[in-house]
Amino acid sequence: MIDVYDVAIIGMGAVGTATGFLLAEFTNVQSLLFLEKENSVGRIASDRRTNSQTRHPFGGELNYTPEVMKTIKRYSDMIPSYANSEYGRGHDILKRTKSGMVLAVGKNEKDYLRKKFHDTVKPVFPDAELMENREGIAKLEPYIVRGRKKDEDIGIIKLQADMVDFGELAKSFQDNASKHQDKKINVKFNTKVEQIEDVPDGYDLRTKNGESFSARYVVVSAGSYTLSLAKQLGLGGDYVAFPVAGKFFTSKPVINGKVYTFEEEGVPFAATHADREWDGAVTRYGPTATPTLMFEKNKPDMKEFIDNLDPVLLDTIISKKTIRNIMLKNIAYSLPVVGRRLFWKYEARKIVPSIPYADLKPAPEFGGVRTVGINKRTRELKLGEFTLPEVPQDGVNICANMAPSPGASGSLGIAYKNVLKITRALGLDFDDEKFTKVFGTLPAV
Ligand SMILES: Cc1cc2nc3c(=O)[nH]c(=O)nc-3n(C[C@H](O)[C@H](O)[C@H](O)COP(=O)(O)OP(=O)(O)OC[C@H]3O[C@@H](n4cnc5c(N)ncnc54)[C@H](O)[C@@H]3O)c2cc1C
Repeated sequence: MIDVYDVAIIGMGAVGTATGFLLAEFTNVQSLLFLEKENSVGRIASDRRTNSQTRHPFGGELNYTPEVMKTIKRYSDMIPSYANSEYGRGHDILKRTKSGMVLAVGKNEKDYLRKKFHDTVKPVFPDAELMENREGIAKLEPYIVRGRKKDEDIGIIKLQADMVDFGELAKSFQDNASKHQDKKINVKFNTKVEQIEDVPDGYDLRTKNGESFSARYVVVSAGSYTLSLAKQLGLGGDYVAFPVAGKFFTSKPVINGKVYTFEEEGVPFAATHADREWDGAVTRYGPTATPTLMFEKNKPDMKEFIDNLDPVLLDTIISKKTIRNIMLKNIAYSLPVVGRRLFWKYEARKIVPSIPYADLKPAPEFGGVRTVGINKRTRELKLGEFTLPEVPQDGVNICANMAPSPGASGSLGIAYKNVLKITRALGLDFDDEKFTKVFGTLPAV
């Protein structure tokens, strides 16, 4: 007999597990199924070795508009509320860094920094400070001043920044969801969903192991695989997946917190930053942004690659100047031998001028893939998260979440939006009062 659930969640990264936690804890859902192809929670993009561990926005993301900054902040502020509540107990989720900043080098960048400070950063982060004297900056991060040419002008916006272990966050979400013994909550690892089919009372899911499940509502939070699973249900036909690899280099620890450099507004990928690694053992530089044939790091998947092939992909990369330039630069950083030297010369030394070439090492143990959606009609890259169907449709009990970046910081917000849709569709109750006791307010959607 087929195993039936109210809600099935495919993918146990930060987004899928946050959705399961909110459902289990704040609604009267009766049965919930988590399906994950790996052998534990948060092992792909949400793993702290994959991502940069930054709780965005902290104010250093000058490529965001003020509106985007505010929206993401509203959602990411839920993480400290959660981590510092009883739910976060026993999990090492969040750390405040000793310093956080965005760095401008040279006159043009300093002019841009000043403008963005007043127009974008200060209205959202009232404690932000513009600093232009080297002595003050050196007190925060000595290595960004040491060895810098006297005539090279620098300025920073001083901010507070948090590090998050998003994999641990996901684990805590699942632990808290699984505590509900009053509900049927089933977690299946090593279970890859291969097929989703629309049937009269919901959806049938078939796995690679030959198991079948049925659910009235399905959440697809499968990272790079979300789009192809959604397409099985006739959703997302306007999009093609664009997987972008993010790689890192490391050096001995020279940075106390987070030092971001910046791209222009509207560019989807953050410029190189230098971050203190979670345990402080190294400084990490990156991530790069290089087109890749793989949907997850070191996991070639020929079928997915062929299914996703579309001329729009190449056309967008070639015809869009900003994207093309970023891709070319980053492809150069990936080249054997010379890539490391170029990255050292143009990226790492911009932040830490005194870093010897020999000290900068490629770090294959870190990094991963962000899969961005390209709209096939407009050729626009979807910046940030989005959910299919984009306009809710009666009878379509699916939320398919694409959350390339900074989806981990926004995971509770994305989950909240999912849960509102699910409660409406299944006629469930959401406990606003209990929720606001933890998170302060109900997030605007
Ligand atoms: C280099 C890099 C740096 C980043 N830096 C930051 C940062 O500093 N701050 C930030 O907020 N975000 C950052 N991000 C983005 C962040 O990592 C993602 O937005 C977030 O982790 C996405 O969470 P998710 O749950 O959607 O996906 P994931 O964590 O990838 O989870 C998806 C899950 O679905 C599973 N899955 C896939 N297909 C199937 C299937 N068919 N059946 C069953 N299970 C399946 C996968 O195994 C995986 O566990 C970064 C990403 C990268 C790559």
